[in-house]
Amino acid sequence: MSVVAREIRLKSRPEGLPGPENFELAERPLPVPQAGQLLVRTLWMSVDPYMRGRMADRPSYIPPFRLGEALEGAAIGVVEQSGAEGIRPGDLVSHFAGWRDRALIDAASAIPLDPAGVPVQAWLGPLGFPGLAAYVGLLRLGKPKPGETVFVSAAAGAVGAVAAQIARIRGCRVIGSAGSEEKVRWLREEAGLDAVINYRSSGDLTRALAEAAPDGIDVYFDNVGGDHLDAALALANPFARFPLCGMIERYNAGAPLPGPRNIFRVIERSLTLQGFIVSDHLDLLPDFARDMRRWIAEGRMLWRETVVEGLERAPEAFIGLFAGENFGKMLVKLADR
Ligand code: NDP
Repeated sequence: MSVVAREIRLKSRPEGLPGPENFELAERPLPVPQAGQLLVRTLWMSVDPYMRGRMADRPSYIPPFRLGEALEGAAIGVVEQSGAEGIRPGDLVSHFAGWRDRALIDAASAIPLDPAGVPVQAWLGPLGFPGLAAYVGLLRLGKPKPGETVFVSAAAGAVGAVAAQIARIRGCRVIGSAGSEEKVRWLREEAGLDAVINYRSSGDLTRALAEAAPDGIDVYFDNVGGDHLDAALALANPFARFPLCGMIERYNAGAPLPGPRNIFRVIERSLTLQGFIVSDHLDLLPDFARDMRRWIAEGRMLWRETVVEGLERAPEAFIGLFAGENFGKMLVKLADR
């Protein structure tokens, strides 16, 4: 039976902070799945800061979204019709055709999920790409040793909260930064960080970080860039490692912003700054899945979610990322199973 799907399309390319006018809700009839295809009904979809980069028409590590076409991104769905052997209606899968309530996808691109005691949307958060980004960035690039000091920015976000807790599990002294008192309290009291800076109220960030890290920092996990990177460079110990995961403070800037004023610290302190894209490190998936499931089962890895209900509210959820409206993973819930 054919169905009509609802989808969010990119109507125009945002300049500066995206607004609702950049998106449109549209309908698309979907044919029945052919051999090797699945018709999935979306339960949850992810909105992520990196999607802002795909809204600009410029070459990057991933092609730009096309005007007038549905956006895409990570999603969890339930199979409604299957043209693939071994996948049955009712099965749960993770896939990349988010921003729509139903999608026709290649079965080869779908990953079957076995929730086994974990809420299924965790595969968009700690068990998904945000968790893997934290794992790769912190462990492969940050190489923290027990007793070292690790600083994580946007520490109450999807990636940051996982990176900070992995550092804590590894026996490091962990400092985070976040943009509200509620987030600061959770990071201190629940997630077990040693010190947390509210960068909105702290005043000079370098001074605040110096107070929180009297012995300097050995690893800086950067999600923000800007003043945060400046402060981390100022406090870096010799041979500190800086996994550069994201720089959200500049995603809505029209023109390139100046780099860190104190970049010479990289030479003075023999620092290693290394950017990364999580999809270049999929070899770590088995280790990541094993460790993350164990930490979750042992109660050592906590996470928060902000849930916005309804496909039509997905643009609002996405835009909210740039104002810190999410506490933990920003998710859009489309339907119950
Ligand atoms: P988050 O869940 O952390 O959401 C974004 C958060 O960033 C907001 O909640 C807000 O928190 C903070 N923020 C927004 N604007 C600013 C600003 N101008 N200055 C300081 N903080 C700001 O998002 P993710 O965990 O999904 O992503 C975190 C970072 O990691 C992003 O930069 C993203 O692009 C990057 N990323 C990179 C990957 C890679 O492969 N390299 C993979 C996945 C993510 P607050 O209230 O604290 O301000």
